[in-house]
Amino acid sequence: MEVIERVDTIRERMQTLRCSGKRIGFVPTMGALHEGHLQLLRASVQENDITVCSIFVNPTQFNNPDDYKLYPRTIAQDTELLKTVGCDILFAPKAEDVYVQQSLLQFSFGPLEAVMEGEHRPGHFNGVATVVSKLFHFVQPHRAYFGQKDLQQVAIVKQLVQGLSFDVEVVRYPIVREEDGLAMSSRNKRLDAKQRQTAPSLYGALQLAKQQLGNKPVYSIKAAVEAYLSSMDEVQLEYFEITDPDTLRPLTNVQPGQEVALCIAAFVGPVRLIDNMLVNLNEV
Ligand code: AMP
Repeated sequence: MEVIERVDTIRERMQTLRCSGKRIGFVPTMGALHEGHLQLLRASVQENDITVCSIFVNPTQFNNPDDYKLYPRTIAQDTELLKTVGCDILFAPKAEDVYVQQSLLQFSFGPLEAVMEGEHRPGHFNGVATVVSKLFHFVQPHRAYFGQKDLQQVAIVKQLVQGLSFDVEVVRYPIVREEDGLAMSSRNKRLDAKQRQTAPSLYGALQLAKQQLGNKPVYSIKAAVEAYLSSMDEVQLEYFEITDPDTLRPLTNVQPGQEVALCIAAFVGPVRLIDNMLVNLNEV
């Protein structure tokens, strides 16, 4: 596996590969890789000639300085994992090289960024859109792989690709969970043993909501989720929403046959976690 740090070098390398007719798959990450990332990499390796993984803890998408400082960084271990899944190129740039000058560009995603992650993490999606645009220019992929774990991010990236006519196909893969239901996340590494035990309650809350969908009104499901999580040690709910799976607009009522996305964010101790579940009301 090639490891490339410099932006100039990746640009040149990718230009050559693209010109020689190679199909390029791209998996952007912030590292501290786990099975959620690896499923995206395996899919890319299978579907493309060349797979590029980027590891870049992007400073501009963090609205909380502590979260940025404490974000797990395990590049040596990540490099070994990438070799095991057949990744061809690891692109691990330095922030100074990605952001030579501070970007003053401001993205607006309308209603999509006014809710949930957009509402609770000001500037987050602007940072995501900036770095994804830059990475797409550097890597020039045919196809880019994202996880449902960050459902709103996938919607934002799709809107970005459409709005700026990037010639990239965006694909989404399901959430990979630990055996106890906790969605895999690099941030899980920051949980202490007790917090790790209560963290699956986010998934528990989604399951509780799923059970009640179709039987109870939305406001009462939201109240049940709040009550359930308030009984958990060290868990502080930030939001729980029942949303349209495409627009992510929060719904106040649901119809039989409708598809919805249940979305949750909560602090477990000092660590902010998110999770979601797609549900078809015909199947509950
Ligand atoms: P991150 O390194 O957290 O920025 O994630 C990089 C990519 O992996 C994003 O597209 C995430 O949505 C995806 N991802 C992270 N965790 C999971 C998971 N548990 N299941 C599926 N995809 C994931």
